[in-house]
Amino acid sequence: MSKVLVIGAGGVGTVVVHKMAGLPDVFSEIMLASRTKSKCDDIAAQIGGNRVKTAQVDADNVPELVELINSFKPDLVVNVALPYQDLTIMDACLETGVSYLDTANYEPKDEAKFEYKWQWAYQEKFKNAGLTAILGCGFDPGVTSVFTAYAAKHHFDEIHYLDIVDCNAGDHGKAFATNFNPEINIREVTQKGKYWENGQWVYTEPHEIHKPLNYPEIGPKESYLIYHEELESLVKNFPTLKRARFWMTFGQEYLTHLRVIQNIGMAGIEPVMYNGVGIVPIQFLKAVLPNPGDLGENYKGWTSIGCRIRGIKDGKEKTYYVYNNCSHEMAYKETGTQAVSYTTGVPCMIGAMMYLQGIWKQPGVLNVEEFNPDPFMEQLNIHGLPWVEKHDVDLEL
Ligand code: NDP
Repeated sequence: MSKVLVIGAGGVGTVVVHKMAGLPDVFSEIMLASRTKSKCDDIAAQIGGNRVKTAQVDADNVPELVELINSFKPDLVVNVALPYQDLTIMDACLETGVSYLDTANYEPKDEAKFEYKWQWAYQEKFKNAGLTAILGCGFDPGVTSVFTAYAAKHHFDEIHYLDIVDCNAGDHGKAFATNFNPEINIREVTQKGKYWENGQWVYTEPHEIHKPLNYPEIGPKESYLIYHEELESLVKNFPTLKRARFWMTFGQEYLTHLRVIQNIGMAGIEPVMYNGVGIVPIQFLKAVLPNPGDLGENYKGWTSIGCRIRGIKDGKEKTYYVYNNCSHEMAYKETGTQAVSYTTGVPCMIGAMMYLQGIWKQPGVLNVEEFNPDPFMEQLNIHGLPWVEKHDVDLEL
């Protein structure tokens, strides 16, 4: 029996509380708090049965967070607001003595740069307080990190080459839309590419390296090497890795729109003056783009995300591919959101369950691959994200 406070009422928050509400033995009391309370109320009403309490909170404001946490007294705070709020929510957790979980690493608003260093710097504070901070518990980071830990534990003596492959083969019928928060998404995909090789980071121009990869039940899709945050913790936690890369599929139409957005300055994060008012172009762009949370209704097709790994087992080279395919239609039917929110929200709920059941409970700041992967993998199969393993296959990479 435990109480959980979820912060952020977007697409991911919707899935997280839907899933938690269905498990009253684990999540006996749920509160959903966000900047706009009406969004929390709408989600609570959809779920019904008075399962979800709601509240307004500005998660940039530590005293406000502290007041809310002290009044509800949760056992865990789940942060599915934006990466900008990670540190303020961690500060509030430390002040109130509550553990913390999130799905994306901290990013300063005025610099498009995400790194774990800011959150890893909280290590001693969480350890000394006897609290757990679980970092990166969505799909990628999250499930991809647990997939890697599971492979290293069960199928290899040493893992050497890791390629995380993320395909969204869905079609939402819009000319251009992002699958999660447009500001965070565009900042992520327009930055330089970066991967780990022989003990150092190698940099590429944005989308410079690409090739078609075959995805199960989907077929070939052009896949682009981009930098993704889990690479930073995985190369630290699996030092046998000689190379670690991340690939994501993009359609030509999406890339063309993205290029235009960048070329005309709409991806900018510095304020520009318009009619005497300072406006941040990418924030204005977010306001005119489709809301990712509303894409679900007409979204058709699949996502396929997995890890392709090469390494050594019993002195012989071995290859291994573990992945999940998720249907946008199925995700919408169950939670009213598309598969990108679903594949993030389900693992986030499972991570919270792991903590509340005492399975993933260790003082300090930990990335998900540092915990035992087995119970988490079991729950993925039960809660809508079944995974498939293939041994000794052509990895194409
Ligand atoms: P949305 O933009 O749909 O939702 C974000 C929510 O946070 C909104 O309800 C927003 O409020 C709220 N919020 C923003 N700022 C504040 C604030 N200062 N105080 C309180 N609430 C605030 O995003 P998503 O649901 O798509 O994504 C949520 C998180 O999940 C992001 O951090 C994203 O990076 C992460 N993510 C992780 C993935 C993974 O696999 N690991 C994949 C996809 C996303 P309002 O409604 O008022 O705007």
